[in-house]
Amino acid sequence: MHIEVRGLKKQFGDFQAVNDVSFEIEKGHLIGLLGPSGGGKTSILRMLAGLESPSSGDIIFHGKRVNDLPPQERGIGFVFQNYALFKHMTVYDNVSFGLKVKGQSKEFIRERVMSLVELTGLKGFEHRYPHQLSGGQRQRVAFARALAPEPQLLLLDEPFAAIDAKIRTELRTWLKDMIERVGITSIFVTHDQEEAIEVADEIMIINKGRLEQKGSPWEIYKNPQTQFVASFIGESTIVENIERLKGFEEAANWPGTQALIRPEYIEIGKLSEFRLPSATFQGTVKHLHFRGSEWMVEVQVGDIKLITYRSLEKDVLQPGDEVTVLIHRAYLFNDSDTWIMENR
Ligand code: ATP
Repeated sequence: MHIEVRGLKKQFGDFQAVNDVSFEIEKGHLIGLLGPSGGGKTSILRMLAGLESPSSGDIIFHGKRVNDLPPQERGIGFVFQNYALFKHMTVYDNVSFGLKVKGQSKEFIRERVMSLVELTGLKGFEHRYPHQLSGGQRQRVAFARALAPEPQLLLLDEPFAAIDAKIRTELRTWLKDMIERVGITSIFVTHDQEEAIEVADEIMIINKGRLEQKGSPWEIYKNPQTQFVASFIGESTIVENIERLKGFEEAANWPGTQALIRPEYIEIGKLSEFRLPSATFQGTVKHLHFRGSEWMVEVQVGDIKLITYRSLEKDVLQPGDEVTVLIHRAYLFNDSDTWIMENR
């Protein structure tokens, strides 16, 4: 289902929880609503669902304004973080619930439930109760149950939050694959940037009730349009007066500009290793954090602490080591603009 939202607002008393949010979602896309706690993600989801009515704005499903439609008539499936399965019902009964409510025939229900049980890898578990399943399995039941009545839109509120870290990673991949196969337009809420980057076709960054940016994970990472987005997605160091650093002297033309530097654009090592030795400066290794596949290194340059990564194959550094530093690129921000400055 194609979704359009125009000028959506939600006010709770004096507080503007959602402030003039507009977007469109293509049919079949998987969208991640990402942002800090209290930003308004759940409120947006609840308005789409019809559980909360907008203070103003339009919600349009497939060309039709649905503001006044009750939730059960919007063709929506839900998955929540706490599974919300019926504890006294088996997997089979949980999945068939929505179909029974719709008054479908027994044969139809049996066929649909069995195909969903198969699709979600729960074959053989039909007669188990929720307490006899793992967290990941329960979440798959919740997913099968939400899909059973063939909704046009699937809304997932922090669907992985209650799952163990290891299984969460598996479940994310599984869910992405499943949603692609079913081809259903889906929106999930998360405050975990890694999750949004891994799972979503497109991310919407929500902060203080506003939509800061919408785009593919790649676009958002590479071309953040606001300082908030740049610092929220990916690791980075914020630098004031970047004109102090070699290669970025030109930034002096824009006083008051702040710069954000991503770890992958910082190179450290021996001076002899650099192709552009003239654009380098000296720093001191402060801390090293072993990350399994690489080191995360904190380098002090004057009052600036830069964060970068270093391959395990290179010489091992120690705290206190003097290193040469080259910054290849920085994102610059002032009140009205953002732009990229390269060190060539
Ligand atoms: P989280 O990740 O913590 O769930 P969120 O981005 O989903 O946050 P919302 O739950 O949409 O944010 O809440 C946005 C703001 O609106 C919060 O400050 C919240 O306290 C406020 N809010 C939400 N529901 C109500 C309500 N029914 N009455 C008053 N304020 C509310």
